[in-house]
Amino acid sequence: MEAELKGMLSDLQNLKSSLSDPSHQASVDHIRLRVENLTSLAMAEPTRRSKVKDMSAEVVDSNPYSRLMALQRMGIVENYESIRGFSVAIVGIGGVGSVAAEMLTRCGIGRLLLYDYDTVELANMNRLFFRPEQVGMTKTDAAVQTLSEINPDVVLESFTLNITTVQGFETFISSLTNKSYSQKKEGTGVDLVLSCVDNYEARMVVNQVNNLLLLLFFFAGVSEDAVSGHIQLLIPGETACFACAPPLVVASGVDERTLKREGVCAASLPTTMGVVAGLLVQNTLKFLLKFGQVSPYLGYNALKDYFPTMTMKPNPQCSNRPCLERQKEYMLIKPARDAVAKAKREEELSAIDIPIHADNEWNISVVDDCDDVINARSSDALPEGLVHELPNADVYKHPTVSNENVDTVDDLEDLKRQLEALNAD
Ligand SMILES: [Zn+2]
Repeated sequence: MEAELKGMLSDLQNLKSSLSDPSHQASVDHIRLRVENLTSLAMAEPTRRSKVKDMSAEVVDSNPYSRLMALQRMGIVENYESIRGFSVAIVGIGGVGSVAAEMLTRCGIGRLLLYDYDTVELANMNRLFFRPEQVGMTKTDAAVQTLSEINPDVVLESFTLNITTVQGFETFISSLTNKSYSQKKEGTGVDLVLSCVDNYEARMVVNQVNNLLLLLFFFAGVSEDAVSGHIQLLIPGETACFACAPPLVVASGVDERTLKREGVCAASLPTTMGVVAGLLVQNTLKFLLKFGQVSPYLGYNALKDYFPTMTMKPNPQCSNRPCLERQKEYMLIKPARDAVAKAKREEELSAIDIPIHADNEWNISVVDDCDDVINARSSDALPEGLVHELPNADVYKHPTVSNENVDTVDDLEDLKRQLEALNAD
């Protein structure tokens, strides 16, 4: 359309030159002016929807929130609109972080803080979100451009910086503690941090900051062969932090930068990235809007479609000092929290005193707790071809004497003897 209008302007210029009567030339100038206005309108930014003051549940095609507000009517979420009061920080706007940012934007999150230092490249086009015309833009600027078009109600703050530099680190801290968006919040100015960075150094910075500021955060990671990933909820002092169980290669003191080989890059698939981003935001929504059960750890193995879950307790020998301080604080408040939880459970049990089904037509009986344990263990069985990297902690808590773990018992006895010999010296 733009080219057509420019062609018309050129034709009008030629027509004007061929006319000798000044009054005819004035008429051509008048038409030219109108075509110029049309050209500038055609080049202007695409029309954006105006901001919406309150989220409405009204079922009309023009309501951007009708499908989300329906979660209330379906009894899943008590107050969906409360999502507008939350601030979420996303560190790393790559294959997972950008998709997570788009999902939260479409859900109408109140405020998003976006951190990345990188620029968009053609090599990123195998993933979702970024477009070829954004190549060369910083990922944060490109993200703000797209997200503000999708939902202008979301407050977007972008930080083009590297959090592993001194200046980047300081800006990172000050932005997280800025409470101008919501004065009511205690502590920091954000409700949750999503760590979607792709290197250990940056992960440790996010870990350190969250342990220091007592901020909850989800960590999302995808393996470099692109066929597995996981998400993990880190609650300072309550669950394992990132330093509590570092990867073996890092614990061995190897600099991760030396692991990269020239001309070799990590593989990535839009599918695996999309699945992990989906799991991440699903749990973020459950956490913020208080529905369902939030997974403390959820893995994804694409080759077997296997989704392991587990809980990781903090390591009392963690190398991160703030983590140890948070662990001590948590141990102090834990008895009171357990008592409240126990009282709540008992209240719920007493509320269902009356038999739910007075006449048991089908002779259904409640299965004994012991069977549940057996069932739970059998569901832990791995699909064929997968092996656990680490042994199950229960094996050590409840050792059973069998041919299979005679070696383990011997190893423990051996270790005990070695320790006794050391103490004797
Ligand atoms: Zn720790």
